[in-house]
Amino acid sequence: MKNIVILGASGSIGQQTLDVIKRHPQMFRCIGLSLRNRLDLISGFLNETFGCFVCLENQKDAEAAAKLYPWHHFLWGDEGLIKLVTLNDADTVVNALVGFVGCGPTLAAIEAKKNIALANKETLVAAGKIIMEAVERNKVSLIPIDSEHSAIAQCLATHDHQVRRLILTASGGSFRDRTRDQLVNVTLSDALQHPNWSMGAKITIDSATMMNKGLEVIEAHWLFGVPMEKIDVIMHRQSIIHSMVEYEDRAVMAQLGTPDMRIPIQYALSYPDRLPLDLPSLDLGKCHSLTFEPIDFNRFPLLRCAYQAGRSNNDSAAALNGANEEAVRAFLAGEIRFIDIDMLVVEAFESMTYGPNNSLSEAIAGDLKGRAWIRNRISGGRV
Ligand code: MG
Repeated sequence: MKNIVILGASGSIGQQTLDVIKRHPQMFRCIGLSLRNRLDLISGFLNETFGCFVCLENQKDAEAAAKLYPWHHFLWGDEGLIKLVTLNDADTVVNALVGFVGCGPTLAAIEAKKNIALANKETLVAAGKIIMEAVERNKVSLIPIDSEHSAIAQCLATHDHQVRRLILTASGGSFRDRTRDQLVNVTLSDALQHPNWSMGAKITIDSATMMNKGLEVIEAHWLFGVPMEKIDVIMHRQSIIHSMVEYEDRAVMAQLGTPDMRIPIQYALSYPDRLPLDLPSLDLGKCHSLTFEPIDFNRFPLLRCAYQAGRSNNDSAAALNGANEEAVRAFLAGEIRFIDIDMLVVEAFESMTYGPNNSLSEAIAGDLKGRAWIRNRISGGRV
């Protein structure tokens, strides 16, 4: 029996993790979870379980919840989050938080010798070196939930040396067939329509700007220890091939499947084993074709910035990620247009000056620098 803690239980990955756990009651038990305040989204879980640690964002909500569900233990805030990820009985922490905010709890869990199942890519983008050093020092495993990285990890599970390059597939997101000129008047609801995957708002927007793929290239660089110049991206509209590994003998291994995040989630929990999962099988006869196209870096400039940041040995990736998080927040809040997201983030990336990134406090400083640049630019009214 593996005892699991889920950070971000009310989000898309959190909910699907609860679904996977429920399918294997002999294998997995959720002993703790965190969410901001949407208890209604986990009411089924709260009613069916007993003695779970639940961390909410603020004290008032936690105290009210404790009256509603007196058979669970309620915690709150940053202190509650740290208590949650360091619970004595926890084996694996699933980090399904969105954004760099997931970094501190990830490090605390690693230092407490917990294995990590990571859906929170921004943590590796902004603090990859720091996280991977902590993983090494504490001898824990860090298994990706991101579908591309899960695919690569599954390919590498059979052979992990003589790797020539990693090939990440990209669907192209909601606006893949529009030119930049056609992006001027797109709406929030247009942007939230992903062609293949059902995901949270932030990652769906990041997919439409292709920043998501940029973050994933940097994530792959840290996770697998492969230099940036050996990581390629190819547009694959169907999201059936989740990613590939090319070896020195030019053989290419790929992992395929229907686009359903429960597959990589379950693999991260059951690793290195596989468990049954009752989903429809991939029907290649129905796919008709699998297509591949080169990426146009002029159409998706944030991907170019991410490659540049990933190659630099400074806090530029942390700052780029912070700037993007702030720009996406502003778009979701209706403060800027979709087209402004990458225009502003590129401008920020090219204007900021960068420093070292060898500690959590330096990564935080980089993140704040990116956010502040975007906020000042928007509040300056020049957007
Ligand atoms: Mg992905």
